[in-house]
Amino acid sequence: MLLVFRKSRYRKRELTDKEATAVGNVYRSRMTSTLPDIDLADKVFWEMHNEGLWLQCDCRADHQNVNPPELTAVNDPDIPIHLRNINRETDHADNCPLKGQHTEGGEERTASGARKKASLRRIDYSSLLRKEANRKQPTGTPDDNDEETRRPRRAAVSSLARLLFTLIEDAGFNELSLPVNLDKSYPGAAERIRQLQAVLDKTTVSRGHKLSEVVSLRPWKSPEEIMATLDKAEWLEGRERRFWMIFTTDRVTEEGAEFVLEGKGKDGNDLCFPFRPTRRLKINGEAGEGRRGHYWVIVRFERNEVSGLVECRDGYAHAIYSRNWPVPVDSELEKATLKGINECAVWLRDKYPSINLALQKPVHEQQITDPLSDEKGYVIPDFIVKVSENGNHAHTLVIETMGYTTEEYIERKKKMHRMMNEIGRVVTDPQKWPEPAEKPFCNYLYGVIIHL
Ligand SMILES: [Zn+2]
Repeated sequence: MLLVFRKSRYRKRELTDKEATAVGNVYRSRMTSTLPDIDLADKVFWEMHNEGLWLQCDCRADHQNVNPPELTAVNDPDIPIHLRNINRETDHADNCPLKGQHTEGGEERTASGARKKASLRRIDYSSLLRKEANRKQPTGTPDDNDEETRRPRRAAVSSLARLLFTLIEDAGFNELSLPVNLDKSYPGAAERIRQLQAVLDKTTVSRGHKLSEVVSLRPWKSPEEIMATLDKAEWLEGRERRFWMIFTTDRVTEEGAEFVLEGKGKDGNDLCFPFRPTRRLKINGEAGEGRRGHYWVIVRFERNEVSGLVECRDGYAHAIYSRNWPVPVDSELEKATLKGINECAVWLRDKYPSINLALQKPVHEQQITDPLSDEKGYVIPDFIVKVSENGNHAHTLVIETMGYTTEEYIERKKKMHRMMNEIGRVVTDPQKWPEPAEKPFCNYLYGVIIHL
């Protein structure tokens, strides 16, 4: 196993056999590891943390064209420094001790590889208000209504993503009745923010109080002032004071995100509001710097219990199609697929005006039955297109953007697609994947739809 520099992937050094064994043991279970192993592994973790190194696993070294799985050292407060797998397309070999999530001891999956537990469930808005007592009694019984006490280690980021996606869904940003003018910049970001504000203003979080009291869409406001208002709020008695800010920007890195008020500064300069979460910003599917245009960004603030200062604690960024069409997208390739589907809808409108396409970008998983094993599992298709004729729903298509052509990825995706067929006919972009496309995706999809 190799230690490499995070940004450049330059090699620093190979782990010794002893270190590799210790790291594997401690990753699996710190509780049952020996003290010398813990000591040795911790030294490696701190070396990674202090020097910005990643660990490249060698369990797939005998497979060609497979990028090694990579892990990073995470130094969350309250728990020992540990390794976390970086989200990417190559998984460890089945017998690798670094396989699976750090905290969950390996995720349970169905025969086709679907998760047995949903990870992107809708968030229960009332769970945002954490009870004050919970965190101060780590041995106490967890509050069922509290997302973060149940899964304390990874939940901070995943609950941010879930809050963001739940709001996106409630605002309807992930659904489009096609065709739309994807190049249009009107009504633009400000109108989308107003739509989201309307959701915050009408959704109750607790005792008649609205979500807008703890979620702000005004990143130019002073966090100290927002916190001062929450401090005085009697309805939050016994609850931790914390709040969230949501905005869109094209400036994101793992260090943080910057919101820009264009031309609102002195002499018409841009006004910039930087957010640097103490636990860094998680960017969906990207490391280092966000390069996918605009993003939804959600950051969470809380008070540092030692210093008393209001701090930006963690953050999450997810790419969107554009500021006017803030549909979450997982990659540049997905943006191209979305364009292709829309183009196809334009042609259909001209030739077959009775056919309508409704596009959904799922933001939560769907539960379906695995045809291989009859188990229930959760899948999240890239896009779902409902085809209707004369207003009657006729067909459902699952549209999957194919990102890689490594053997492992192809095998895994093919299994998942058999499972997604339970939702609707699976159409891949490119159509003959893993073979190269013969014609543009929109032509192919057009053919599929008129022959349904
Ligand atoms: Zn491995």
